Amino acid sequence: MPGPILRLALPSPLRRLFDYLPPAGVPASSLRPGVRLRVPFGRREVIGILVESGEHSEVPADKLKAATELLDGQTPLPESLLRLCQWTARYYQHSLGDTLSWALPVLLRQGEPAEARQEQVWHLAEGASADDPRLARAPRQREALKAIAQHVHGVPQALLGKLQLNRSSLELLLEKGLLRIEIRRCNAPPAPHHGSWLLQPALTFNDEQRIAFEAVRASLGSFHPFLLAGITGSGKTEIYLQLIQAVLEAGKQALVLIPEINLGPQTLARFERRFNARIALLHSNVSDRERLDIWLAARDGEVDIVIGTRSALFTPLKSPGLIILDEEHDASYKQQEGLRYHARDLALVRARQEQVPILLGSATPSLESLHNAHAGRYALLKLTRRAGGASAPRFLRLDVKSRPLDSGISGPLQQAIAQTLQAGQQVLVFLNRRGFAPTLLCHDCGWTSQCQRCDARMTLHQRHSELRCHHCGHVQRQPLRCPDCGKVDLRPVGAGTERAEERLNTLYPDYPVLRIDRDSTARKGSMEKLLATINRGEPCLLVGTQMLAKGHHFPRVTLVAILDADGGLFSADFRASERMAQLIVQVAGRAGRAGEPGKVIIQSHMADHPLLVQLTEQGYFAFAEQALSERRAASLPPFSHLALLRAEAHKPGQAEGFLDAACQQAERLVNEQGLGGIELLGPVPAPMERRAGRYRAQLLLQSNTRPALHQLLGTLLPHMEQLPGGRSVRWSLDVDPIDL
Ligand code: ADP
Ligand code: ZN
Ligand code: ZN
Repeated sequence: MPGPILRLALPSPLRRLFDYLPPAGVPASSLRPGVRLRVPFGRREVIGILVESGEHSEVPADKLKAATELLDGQTPLPESLLRLCQWTARYYQHSLGDTLSWALPVLLRQGEPAEARQEQVWHLAEGASADDPRLARAPRQREALKAIAQHVHGVPQALLGKLQLNRSSLELLLEKGLLRIEIRRCNAPPAPHHGSWLLQPALTFNDEQRIAFEAVRASLGSFHPFLLAGITGSGKTEIYLQLIQAVLEAGKQALVLIPEINLGPQTLARFERRFNARIALLHSNVSDRERLDIWLAARDGEVDIVIGTRSALFTPLKSPGLIILDEEHDASYKQQEGLRYHARDLALVRARQEQVPILLGSATPSLESLHNAHAGRYALLKLTRRAGGASAPRFLRLDVKSRPLDSGISGPLQQAIAQTLQAGQQVLVFLNRRGFAPTLLCHDCGWTSQCQRCDARMTLHQRHSELRCHHCGHVQRQPLRCPDCGKVDLRPVGAGTERAEERLNTLYPDYPVLRIDRDSTARKGSMEKLLATINRGEPCLLVGTQMLAKGHHFPRVTLVAILDADGGLFSADFRASERMAQLIVQVAGRAGRAGEPGKVIIQSHMADHPLLVQLTEQGYFAFAEQALSERRAASLPPFSHLALLRAEAHKPGQAEGFLDAACQQAERLVNEQGLGGIELLGPVPAPMERRAGRYRAQLLLQSNTRPALHQLLGTLLPHMEQLPGGRSVRWSLDVDPIDL
């Protein structure tokens, strides 16, 4: 009798499971959902994950193959994580196998054992000292002992070489009882010292903080979504810390998601100052090995707090107690390639599945989350005052119409900057454009620095004498003569951070100018260095992109200047104004966080634009209400639901033709199934039609209800996989797109 049929998720874009027979000699009892199996797939062998077993297969018996190897004794994947991935695959209409590929550490997918590795860690023995008389004549042992003593958490075996510690000295010290060896998990955070969870006392809450804290604490142990809308500096993080304390005291784990890898070290440091606990930081620069080790440690309950960016959402937890998602409005929670998931939405699903509360925090909540709060789906907690007594910043809209702009900086702004610096304070200049200038223009013939592969201009990076395309990464030398007419009068047009930096250096030669953007912080450790300089507190100028807007705390900044607020007022994307408002409020929030009141100057050609007026005079929530009512009137999200089909091809028209066919299928399906309230918009060329040499088009599906949209997608995609022309077109589906 043949064994049961195993249904596996395989690393394939196809939206289905694959049937196999069990490997020879493996009892059915060890084939639990979640175990990994090696199977023949086409001409290769791949590793799949068992999702379920069944009795029957559609595959004819003589075609059915057996798996070659069972990789796991116990299932490496907790059932809850498998369920989350199944939900994700269904919701985003993505293959489960590929979803698992995104969700799991790469080494697990490659067949690495899913068990913790141990390492030896060298510690100073209790009471040991370098003054020990037995070391008087053993200088090398004494030095070795001193070196180990400098590491509170001990020195892992792997680090001995790096510290130039010689093994035989260590062995001798071990024999004398001056050192001891601890066996511990590789890359796991060190075990806490005995005693309290706290290294530092918690602050005393103000009334608003206490109300928010108590609400969440009361719901520990069950699913409850909260939106913590607290202005910048209102003490949200302090609430997170005290909630986590409650979670630790209950013997559970906390998952903390942050938007930016740059915020990682800062957040980690704050948590490490507070807690005597095992804290792990997960982000995109963690090595594959480390990632797997941390993943396993969290799964086995050997980590108390996991802090991480988007994908850390998929970290298994043995006993989850709370999920916190900070800066919930941040667009980096949405993955923009492959599996296009939104970590905030999935975090909610996970919290419900695991029956834990989830806390979404932001000074500028997304309209989606505010809408959910209004609809009663989230409990809204508000913090309206700055903790620690700092006052909220004042806004000044500076009309720059027909004023001369010097590299983007107007006269009145220059004076305000000078005054602030002379008063011994710091200035933050915000400009959301990297490089020196967004384009280079020939004054004689009008040539501009167009990218050959995109419908976009190349940005001048003068420091490297290069033109760079920010869309496809294409780089070329800065031309000295116009490629068209050969004249030399090439002029940079507009200003980026590099140009602003140069100009500020000339205008204020007595003060350091620090540029913070993706270019200046690319090298490891450079961000930390910049932050250290700023934290010294001497008067200086910071100039940078939205990197500056996120989460940082610059106590000595009292003037924030936003050089150009106009972009967000003109864009075709319906989310542009929301993003601009969030950015302005977030950047403004860096100002005057300690004592001295802050001032925010916004330069605009449309200083009387109702949106800017409302935002600066009545604040973010008034703006958000207005924006929500406009969305409602226009039936835009969150009052409708979107899915975007994108396609790209080498030849013009191909992608659009493919989407045309998809659109016809969709129309047919809508009629056949009697789906109401669905609109098909397009196909149309993408906003930037040509990018990296490919022509791009898109088809937008808009629906009044989520179930109708998902029913349509569920039946449409199998058709699309069959469409002729699909071979020469790369296409993808984006459910709940945030970039249109
Ligand atoms: P947010 O996360 O909302 O930006 P933080 O938690 O970072 O705010 O708090 C801002 C500053 O106020 C920090 O320096 C913090 O230590 C301080 N703070 C927070 N809560 C209190 C409190 N209850 N009493 C005194 N200071 C506080
Ligand atoms: Zn020219
Ligand atoms: Zn390009």
